[in-house]
Amino acid sequence: MQAEPHAEHHEVAILGAGPAGLTAAIYAARARLDTVVFEGPQPGGQLTITTEVENYPGFEHGILGPELMDIFRRQAHRFGARSLYETIVRVDFHRYPFLLWSDSGKLYSAEAVIVATGASAKKLGVPGEAEYMGYGISACATCDGFFFRDQHVYVVGGGDTAMEEALFLTRFARRVTIIHRRQEFRASKIMQERVRSNPKIDFLLDTVVEEFLGETRDGLRRLTAIRVRNVRTGEQAVLPADGVFVAIGHQPNTDIFRGFLQMDEQGYIITEPRSTRTNIPGVFACGDVQDKVYRQAVTAAGSGCMAAIDAERWLEARRHAEQGRAVPADGGLASGGESSSSVAER
Ligand code: NDP
Repeated sequence: MQAEPHAEHHEVAILGAGPAGLTAAIYAARARLDTVVFEGPQPGGQLTITTEVENYPGFEHGILGPELMDIFRRQAHRFGARSLYETIVRVDFHRYPFLLWSDSGKLYSAEAVIVATGASAKKLGVPGEAEYMGYGISACATCDGFFFRDQHVYVVGGGDTAMEEALFLTRFARRVTIIHRRQEFRASKIMQERVRSNPKIDFLLDTVVEEFLGETRDGLRRLTAIRVRNVRTGEQAVLPADGVFVAIGHQPNTDIFRGFLQMDEQGYIITEPRSTRTNIPGVFACGDVQDKVYRQAVTAAGSGCMAAIDAERWLEARRHAEQGRAVPADGGLASGGESSSSVAER
């Protein structure tokens, strides 16, 4: 192992601080590994931009997303994990120890890396979206709903997120219209029922947003309308709009791992079945960055636990290998970390 002299070194570096990253931190720190968590651009992850979390086990009456993540973090810190409020912007997984560059200009090295960078809200990619993002367009009702008191807002999407955003917005808005590109919703039945029974919510189906329109008055930019098209009839319309919430799913935050980690066509990191191991020994992935199926806080937390256990056992096997002992071909993962082989050797 050739240490990089200018790098701050840690045994385990966790990238991302949502349920996956912070659970990995709890387990790694409890295993007495020197553990740092790079909190990244959204400390606490996606739950910090949600309101009530009703389905996280252990909280019978629900809990606010940000509060839940504070508890995760405090629990990790109690065992010695440290949060660094920096974002890793570049990695080198072809070197060992692995190298990580942060946005503060600092260089870090780590013996094992756990990637838990999650996913981010997708954009529609139509004209005007970038221009009016934050000026009438939002991807987070919890963050921005308050600004749309007594106004007419739109929510784009047909999944649970869109339903949740629409329901939340009825607390403030006068009227909420859900725009969806099909007739059928992908959202769970219970969410659909809640939305359909809410008198403030109506629907614009088989419809897509093609352009965001706005104006700048007294130096203030704001969205004023949207151009929509019915995908069946081709009919277009310009509708006045005070606000639009784009809730069309997420994409994994994996750009910096390209060229190192194997990913599927959507950019989700591929892990070995029933494990968090990536194609690079010593690099593990957990949470939404490798899961496009379940994407729940509790499944992310579960996979964070797996990643920490995988990392701990991998490090253990590697140390045994360095000491010249023989280990089985799986790096000791199946047997709990005894002895060594090519998995542990780099
Ligand atoms: P989903 O992928 O489930 O839904 C995305 C929606 O956006 C779909 O209806 C899709 O349409 C639509 N869409 C995607 N791209 C475009 C586009 N370019 N233009 C127009 N529409 C588009 O994402 P969600 O974020 O809603 O949910 C992700 C996961 O999180 C799910 O598993 C969900 O159950 C879960 N979740 C659970 C919650 C809860 O339990 N309270 C709350 C929020 C999310 P189409 O259907 O035609 O593909």
